[in-house]
Amino acid sequence: MPPTYRNYIDGKWIPSTSCHVIRDLNPADFRDCLGEFPESGPDEISQAVRAAHRAFASWRRVPAPARGEFVARWGELIARDEEALARLITMENGKTLQESKSEVKEAFDFARFMSAQARLIEGSTFPSQHERRLLMTLRQPVGVTALITPWNFPILIPCWKLFPALICGNTVILKPAEECPLAAHRLVELAAEAGLAPGVVNLIHGSGEGTGRTLVKHPGVALVSFTGSTETGRRIAQECALSLKRHVLELGGKNAQIVLADADLTEAVEGAVVGAYKTTGQRCTATSRIIVEQTVAGSFSERFLERTKQIRVGNGLDANVDMGPLVSESRRKRVHAYVEAGRREGAHLLLGGYFYESEPLAQGAFYPPTVFDSVKPGMAIAREEIFGPVICLMEAEDLEAALLDLNNNPYGLSASVYTSNMHTALEAVERIEAGLVYINSPTTGSELHMPFGGVKATGDGHREAGRYGLNIFSEWKSAYINYGRRVSRVELQTPA
Ligand code: NDP
Repeated sequence: MPPTYRNYIDGKWIPSTSCHVIRDLNPADFRDCLGEFPESGPDEISQAVRAAHRAFASWRRVPAPARGEFVARWGELIARDEEALARLITMENGKTLQESKSEVKEAFDFARFMSAQARLIEGSTFPSQHERRLLMTLRQPVGVTALITPWNFPILIPCWKLFPALICGNTVILKPAEECPLAAHRLVELAAEAGLAPGVVNLIHGSGEGTGRTLVKHPGVALVSFTGSTETGRRIAQECALSLKRHVLELGGKNAQIVLADADLTEAVEGAVVGAYKTTGQRCTATSRIIVEQTVAGSFSERFLERTKQIRVGNGLDANVDMGPLVSESRRKRVHAYVEAGRREGAHLLLGGYFYESEPLAQGAFYPPTVFDSVKPGMAIAREEIFGPVICLMEAEDLEAALLDLNNNPYGLSASVYTSNMHTALEAVERIEAGLVYINSPTTGSELHMPFGGVKATGDGHREAGRYGLNIFSEWKSAYINYGRRVSRVELQTPA
């Protein structure tokens, strides 16, 4: 029997009253069930919100550096358990062990970074237009925060939200994705071990449509921080708009790599392979389109296909494997439906595009690296986020045409340009419509102290990572401090 997991509310692991359970399956072998998680209902959500409210009253008064020390302790425990957490991510999500280790490492590096930031939660002072008056701004916590996260970075994305939320003095309720709840469970166990006060961090399991939606609507939640698909983000924004609730959305991408005729083609091919197939194409920054200047399109395509054929697909725990399975059977069906649509729309399938029929790959959500050429910008595979190892090769006459194709898309998260000309590179950096731009490197590979997020349908303009989380998780307060004996007459005449 697989183990049954509980919610974490007010410092206690509480069994759910719900009779619906969510089975957490290993995507490399569906026969392996890692655990059963509750579909938490409204009563449990209200209990968590009440606990977070009670804890907020005291947590917000804990000095910020002390809140930072708590985050540092949590980070050290994540570092201690690096190997075990990485194995867990691979078993639950499917990505290779090496990728899982990088994810865990970035999580504890981010804890170190954020714990130091706790001493730098700064405000400003301004000169006043009146005598003997001090003007200053200070950051204040927002309150009870709902963190809703996806399955593709099941440790790192929660940490990107948890650590800045906590150092700013908020209390949180984490609702992880139902496809990877065990990583979040382990993460919160470590928070408990680090000694956090009851109610500061709460964990609620369940589906997005059930538990997630109820949590977003709860009147006791002051801020919703969401990472996931654009479709869900829109629904959350609509829900929050009704009660004017603060919300922050980090959404999908349809990222492109441009390869110009003067690029180092070996580097461009390697970059494309990393961008396309790491995490089985399930990164929000994954390369999905490769737009190649016509004169080198033939040789790029030949070399890219050769390199793609070398990708070894299998269980991510095997050190000889380059690419693990997709996260679940439903995601695999969705990716395959896009491949079918590409064929129908007239794109030319060069590689992949099938289900494995023999053991052991037939037992999991494996999907081969898949490459289309003759892709036109209007096709669904060129416009929509596939979130799998599927590449669209496109040709463009020159930089102008390539930029036009790249920007002609609803999303704007990440983009990359391979060129040996610095003028061209800087022109591209300026004109690409995306939150992240890379020159001579893949569309993936952000660093934790840089702002992360996108434009257009990729989000609502906020940025995570770096110090930017502080803007999400704090409110500005403007303070006017009069230290003269009387309020001046002029002051009484000011308009606001
Ligand atoms: P989803 O939008 O399907 O789900 C994300 C989270 O939202 C899950 O926890 C999900 O629950 C929950 N959810 C679903 N519906 C609702 C709802 N109505 N109300 C509240 N919560 C809900 O995204 P995916 O899981 O498919 O994640 C992949 C997506 O995330 C991709 O589009 C990817 O580009 C994007 N992403 C964006 C990043 C960025 O920073 N821009 C980074 C990483 C990923 P459950 O799954 O449990 O049902």
